[in-house]
Order: sequence, then structure tokens, then C-alpha cells
Amino acid sequence: MRILITAGPTREFIDPVRFISNSSTGYFGYEISRAAVKRGHKVILVSGPTDLKPPKGVKFIPVLSALQMKTVVDKFFPALDCLIMSAAVADYRPARFVNKKIKKSAATMMVKLKKNPDILLEAGRRKGKKILIGFSLETGGLIKNAKAKIVAKNLDLIIASHLESKKSPFGNRETRIAILDRVGGIRRFSSSKKALSKIILDNIEKIKYTR
Ligand code: C5P
Repeated sequence: MRILITAGPTREFIDPVRFISNSSTGYFGYEISRAAVKRGHKVILVSGPTDLKPPKGVKFIPVLSALQMKTVVDKFFPALDCLIMSAAVADYRPARFVNKKIKKSAATMMVKLKKNPDILLEAGRRKGKKILIGFSLETGGLIKNAKAKIVAKNLDLIIASHLESKKSPFGNRETRIAILDRVGGIRRFSSSKKALSKIILDNIEKIKYTR
């Protein structure tokens, strides 16, 4: 299969040196990419900034912002069999980019934000026979929210994880996830992201070969 995997955070720049981002390390997406290459899939890894080395054999495309990530996903989308959006795409970007480093002045300041496009939602609208996989991270209402996202974004599977106060899923090698499908199936796993990557790929391959 031709699989495009997004990973890591996006950076939404306020000025040339400041940005809004999140704690995603990209680890899970990189592990899925590594496992997919090993199985002989053609993998494009589109990644926000991380400390990780791209796995051997992937076509690696680094990006910074959500808009850049969207441009790359849109470019390759028509030729894909599967899109896995594991990236923690920033929901908002600064409404205005200031060309020069902003000087400190008043005690408080406002940064107005503008909504980013939802890359996965827009891909879901022109899905065709492609397999679409989303990720969902929540501090509450994990299953309810994940179910809503499967429908709203027209996904085949969603990988849902709960953000626990003591153990963040970001950067951890081990995690607990629920895999939800389109027909109401929910399966829970607690394992290494490496082992879970194989389970996710097993699921994707099964969808592909029964379609
Ligand atoms: O709606 P929510 O952001 O929780 O959905 C998460 C899923 O949607 C992830 O797979 C993420 O990569 C994707 N997403 C996206 N574009 C955005 C926000 C999220 O593709 N702007």
C-alpha cells in the first residue's frame, strides 16, 4: 500500500522566534512508519519538528505548520491507499504573523488566534476507497468523542487515548489505547507503541484486503 503517515506537533509562529505548539514527540507515528516499511508498504512520513531520526526506507518530508502539513497531505492524497493522521495538528494559529521579533511592552498582551483547517476532516470528504485513520487524545469523554470523530471525519478507525494526569501518552514508549471502528467495535489495548503499531497495521491491511 501507499501510506502517508503524519507525526509530531505543528508549530504556529507568532513572530520569527516564537510559536504555539504542543507536547507531541512523534514517537508513535515514527514507530508505525518503521513497522509499515518493514512490511513492504511505501511510506511517506510527514513530520512536524521532533528529536527522532526518520526510519530507514521512508520518504521523509519535514514541515512546521499545520498549513504546510496540509499542503503536503493534499499533494499526495489522490495517489494514496491509506492516510494515518497521528500528528498533533494545532487547532489554531496566530491570526497575524509579525515579521519582526515582538518587543516586550505592556504587562499583558493578546495573541489573536485563527482556526486551522482540519486536514483529516477535509480528507474524509474526498475519501473514495482510501483508508483513513485518525488519532484522538482527550482528558474526558474518550469513547464518546472518538465515536463522534469517526463519523464527522469519515474515518475507518480511530486510535483513542486518554490523557492521564500522572502518565502522559506523549513520549511514553508504553500506552493504553482504544481502537474504534465504523461499526461500533471498540477494542482496548495496553502495550508498547511498537507492538501497537503492528496491531494498527494488521487492522489496516485487513480493511484493505476485505474491501
Ligand atoms: O478533532 P481532533 O483534533 O481531536 O481530531 C484529531 C485527529 O484529527 C487527529 O488524527 C489529527 O491528526 C487530526 N487533525 C487534523 N487537522 C487538524 C486537527 C486535527 O487533521 N487541524
